[in-house]
Amino acid sequence: MLSKIQTKLLIVDDLPENLLALEALIRAEGRQVFQARSGDEALALLLQHEFALAILDVQMPGMNGFELAELMRGTERTKHIPIVFVSAAGRELNYAFKGYESGAVDFLQKPLDVHAVKSKVTVFVELYRQRQAINRQVEALEQSRQEQETLLCELRATQDELRQAVRMRDNFMSIVAHELRTPLNGLILETQLRKLYLAKGRAEAFTLDKLHAMTDRDERQITSLIRLIEDMLDVSRIRTGSLSIRPSQVDLAQLVTQVLEGLSAQIAAAGCTVSLQVEAAVSGCWDEFRIEQVIVNLLTNAMRYGAKRPIAVRVADAASHGIIEVRDQGIGISADNQARIFQQFERVSSSGVSQGLGLGLYITEQIVKAHHGWIELQSTEGQGSTFRVCLPLAAASTV
Ligand code: ADP
Repeated sequence: MLSKIQTKLLIVDDLPENLLALEALIRAEGRQVFQARSGDEALALLLQHEFALAILDVQMPGMNGFELAELMRGTERTKHIPIVFVSAAGRELNYAFKGYESGAVDFLQKPLDVHAVKSKVTVFVELYRQRQAINRQVEALEQSRQEQETLLCELRATQDELRQAVRMRDNFMSIVAHELRTPLNGLILETQLRKLYLAKGRAEAFTLDKLHAMTDRDERQITSLIRLIEDMLDVSRIRTGSLSIRPSQVDLAQLVTQVLEGLSAQIAAAGCTVSLQVEAAVSGCWDEFRIEQVIVNLLTNAMRYGAKRPIAVRVADAASHGIIEVRDQGIGISADNQARIFQQFERVSSSGVSQGLGLGLYITEQIVKAHHGWIELQSTEGQGSTFRVCLPLAAASTV
């Protein structure tokens, strides 16, 4: 593996024949030899390449080998390159080359001893290769450490999401239980009361008028149970992508009018009034049942959170879409909460106001999106909210 690491060697000598002879000695597979005939040429090459070793002739006209080494020492890029000085005069080799801090320094004497040259170069080349291999290993280790860190972060995020999901599920279960219990409690109390009357033979408790009222109460409780269950089913349909949209031609104003008529008893029970303003007859290709669900959800919320003040519904058209607007003057929604109420199970706790499962707006938005539409919300805390549903006139798809 080490032998696959390419090494570059620099040889510097003013005499071409010396360069040729030296290159012939040190050339080998996996080594690239660069020749320089002066200190300047050598410096230019040193800036371009990363060398495993520089072999410098000491006696050169202009810049001699020691001066070149001095310059190499002063440059960050070259200061660690090992240097072998070559000189004919034994005397020169006694000069310790001073100050060459961290690069290895060695000496060769002319005439060159073939064996000495080869073995010295091999040692430096091997050292270089080992250093390179270690650097690569360190890099690989660092990379795998970073990958592990990224994985760990992802794992932590997933863990947090899971914890949050479990919390939401537990929370949701207790809300569901509570919401189911309320109408069921009503029904069981009514039933027990009727059994008591029956046991006592009190026929006056079952006059036609009273039976009407009882049946209405039962119907309301059962309807609310069905709505809760339908909402939960819708959420799972949305999750599995099977909330079907069956488009047909729908007259929006007519549909809103019908819904308001259907909700009249609830509106009266909520103690508020609802006005309808139809600006244009809007007809489009939508799923009537689902759009009805949207209107009912928005109106139910307006009744719930509208502080018993008048609610205004508007039907209008824009260039390419129909608009349904439901405006209340109730408790309003803070900017922070506006961002989250369209998510499933999100409810804003507000004491004194009865709450649902926190699914209504989620389902509403998903239905509108399935019609390629969108919902706009304008609200100020304490002053009320306006939900505007925009539905493109063209056909819809499936969520
Ligand atoms: P819920 O069934 O709890 O009403 P929704 O998804 O319909 O669930 O609404 C989510 C939350 O948004 C509600 O709990 C309520 O806090 C807030 N909200 C919805 N509509 C209104 C409104 N018209 N005015 C004020 N707050 C609202």
